[in-house]
Amino acid sequence: MNQDTTARSWARQTIQAVGLRATAARVATLLVLRDSSAPRTHAEVSACLAEYEIDKATVFRNLNDMVTANLLRRSELGDHVWRFEIIAEEEQAHTSHPHFVCVDCGTVSCMQEIELTNKSKTASRRFGQVTEILLRGHCRDCV
Ligand SMILES: [Zn+2]
Ligand SMILES: [Zn+2]
Repeated sequence: MNQDTTARSWARQTIQAVGLRATAARVATLLVLRDSSAPRTHAEVSACLAEYEIDKATVFRNLNDMVTANLLRRSELGDHVWRFEIIAEEEQAHTSHPHFVCVDCGTVSCMQEIELTNKSKTASRRFGQVTEILLRGHCRDCV
């Protein structure tokens, strides 16, 4: 079995496991995001799928279907653009890992974890549940 076949059958099983139909377009969309190391915009995913002749509206619908099914996470990282990424198995659907956004080139990077100390948690009494941590700065290319 070559790697391509393995990846496609993983995508098919993953999509079917959440109760969606594993259409060729959905499989291709999920594989684009699997091969990305950072969240991708609708435009970026569409560009990757253009060679398969999957139109933008279909990509948009499939991305949102997979968000609804808790397969993908949709985040808005301060620039009013939705970005999509696969929710890792060990993650929960309603929380996200931290992201770093470069204010110069707009590159988004996924981060492993950021630990908040007890001091940061008690700094404000309004502190509830954190659903997203967003860091902004200059990436290595733009420093
Ligand atoms: Zn940059
Ligand atoms: Zn991420």
